[in-house]
Amino acid sequence: MAIHAKPIDQLIEALAKLPGIGKKTASRLAFHILRSHPSEAQALARAILDVKEKIHLCSICFNLTDEDPCQICKGERRNKEVLCVVEGPNDLIAIENTGEFNGIYHVLHGTIAPLEGVGPDDIKIKELMERLHREKILEVILATNPTVEGGATALYLTDLIKPLGVKVSRIAYGIPMGGEIEYSDGMTLSKSLEGRREL
Ligand SMILES: [Zn+2]
Repeated sequence: MAIHAKPIDQLIEALAKLPGIGKKTASRLAFHILRSHPSEAQALARAILDVKEKIHLCSICFNLTDEDPCQICKGERRNKEVLCVVEGPNDLIAIENTGEFNGIYHVLHGTIAPLEGVGPDDIKIKELMERLHREKILEVILATNPTVEGGATALYLTDLIKPLGVKVSRIAYGIPMGGEIEYSDGMTLSKSLEGRREL
């Protein structure tokens, strides 16, 4: 037997699907929304719809953007000869936040993970290779995470890219093994970029 009216239950259920939100928190949030001013609830609903309707992938670097190409690809002061390869949009943001990198990016949207059935064709590798043929890129910095999958992906990319005569480097491991770029502090990440090694 339902304790709450159906719309409340539906909201609790929807919120409980979010990562890190249990039933208890979901219920607290739902009642907060219920008590909030209608304009606040509308703003929340609108914001959720907006990210789904307006955010898509940049057709060049595959970063999340509301314009195409994205700000970084369009940026006139960016060094278009140095390209940093990252696993996901959050890694890009972490590197941008260091303020130390002025090149451009390529977002893979994952890593090669054979055990999970993710092969090279399932992430943006073909698109990366097309860019290297099309654009004048002199150095590729591989900033995949220091995990087994991140390392394997970096090796795979090195084998593909080096024959093109493009310099390939990998960020240094200031980030602990198994650690993640998106959760690293800015100083560690700056040092890691600075200390990158040519492969
Ligand atoms: Zn872009």
